[in-house]
Amino acid sequence: MRKKTILKLPATFDSVDEILGLDAQGCIIIKFGTDSSMVLTPCCHASGKGSIDSLSGIVCRACYVDVHHKHGGGDTDIAIPVDDLEIIIETGP
Ligand SMILES: [Zn+2]
Repeated sequence: MRKKTILKLPATFDSVDEILGLDAQGCIIIKFGTDSSMVLTPCCHASGKGSIDSLSGIVCRACYVDVHHKHGGGDTDIAIPVDDLEIIIETGP
């Protein structure tokens, strides 16, 4: 039996069914549209958006910190497919 990678998510995360896997840096990749994917930001599990004030050109849509340009869209390789993930929803206090 293969060891699964544990992925903890906040209870507010609402795209569990769309998760495709993790990229090499551990960022969550979700399905976006019919044949597209999107890498969520590690800080807020949000998508990225373009910003001219950002060094990378992309900021987190939720908190506006600079994030890697991969969060702006495009193809990202899935390093760990969802089948190898054990998803735990954290029900905080
Ligand atoms: Zn953020």
